[in-house]
Amino acid sequence: MKDKDVIKLFEANGAILDGHFRLSSGLHSRRYLQCALILQKPDIAQRLCEELAARFKKERIDFVVGPAMGGIVLAYEMARQLKARRAIFTERENDLMTLRRGFSIKPGERCVVAEDVVTTGGSIAEVIKLVEAAGGKVAGVVSLIDRSSGIDFGVKFETLARVKIEAYSRDACPLCKKGVPIVKPGSRR
Ligand SMILES: [Zn+2]
Repeated sequence: MKDKDVIKLFEANGAILDGHFRLSSGLHSRRYLQCALILQKPDIAQRLCEELAARFKKERIDFVVGPAMGGIVLAYEMARQLKARRAIFTERENDLMTLRRGFSIKPGERCVVAEDVVTTGGSIAEVIKLVEAAGGKVAGVVSLIDRSSGIDFGVKFETLARVKIEAYSRDACPLCKKGVPIVKPGSRR
């Protein structure tokens, strides 16, 4: 599947929105990728994750972990296809990325970190830190879309499409200057 096929799939499912958005990274943007509209469809999620899972097929993966909300469905389908034993997710508690709900990581376990869209990579970097602090090993990172301007997590990073969408800090945002109301479709408070 090529980048443009993935983008077409997003467009066909109304998952590329135009407007004025505050991303989970805090940056502002005129376009937003609503991956939930893609991942709500099990047949599409399965097809996309097949592609990503194939890139780890020679590796032993014990679990897949994603940051809530964006990483939850992706982590689950990736875990299913990688025949990993668990799919877990991290949440923010007092701004700190953490494992809740009784989820745990044992020393020596190998995982893939999953996130729907990578923008600044901040959440992913925090999840990697959390896994490593627990003695786990990160075999790689997967995302449906990479909209960063090239990012290095220090591990293998597999994505289905690279998309360049301009993002602005609040002070530099042309939409804020015009007074366009902002929408926050992301997950981080
Ligand atoms: Zn703005």
